[in-house]
Amino acid sequence: MNLWLKHFADILSKITGGIIVRYRHFLAYLGESCIMEKLVKLNDRTFRIYKSEKEIIEAIRAVADKINDDYLGKRPIIVPILNGSFMFASDLMKELKLDCEISFVKASSYEGTSTTGVVSTLIGLNQSIEDRHVIILEDIVDSGHTLARILPAFHELKPASLRIASLLFKPKALKNPLTIDYVGMEIPNDFIVGYGLDYDGIGRNLRDIYQVVEE
Ligand code: 5GP
Ligand code: MG
Repeated sequence: MNLWLKHFADILSKITGGIIVRYRHFLAYLGESCIMEKLVKLNDRTFRIYKSEKEIIEAIRAVADKINDDYLGKRPIIVPILNGSFMFASDLMKELKLDCEISFVKASSYEGTSTTGVVSTLIGLNQSIEDRHVIILEDIVDSGHTLARILPAFHELKPASLRIASLLFKPKALKNPLTIDYVGMEIPNDFIVGYGLDYDGIGRNLRDIYQVVEE
């Protein structure tokens, strides 16, 4: 009799165990689908999820693969432009299989001569980049003004080579003749936040990228 009871208890636990496992899978599926609807409010604006953390990491891996191939046997210096590129820099660095260095910079803009227009100086570059292979990291290239202003400051320092990697690129907004050597994702002209990018100083800490909801 005891044996029958034990057998029955075993079967029962297998059935309930199976149900719990399936229920968990169902919950995970539900969570994944809900992420599509995720909204955040930052100050006065509402944003809808646009690129999930998973998609962002996949795009960064693809960029890293290309850099790993292109710089094989070299020792590039990665130069992220602060503030927006800090998350991109961190996740990209984890995927690089090369010996590489990193030096964060800030761009400070001022009115140059009548021929140069607005130009930028580099703040924080604490090492020489002369004869070194430099990869500039940007969070996003929109009009390209920021890069166009900052590139002369890099060229003055005589790097052996200079390339640009941007996590996001709005090709339709570009107003400068720039070549972005490595692009994570091309996006339309909408304003986005998250994953390092801010709206009025907030939103940089979001893991995913959100697009503004027009109201
Ligand atoms: P650009 O000079 O190419 O027009 O713009 C570059 C800078 O503008 C980026 O580094 C970023 O700080 C800001 N920016 C451009 N587009 C967006 C956007 O959609 N969202 C946010 N948060 N910043 C942007
Ligand atoms: Mg930027």
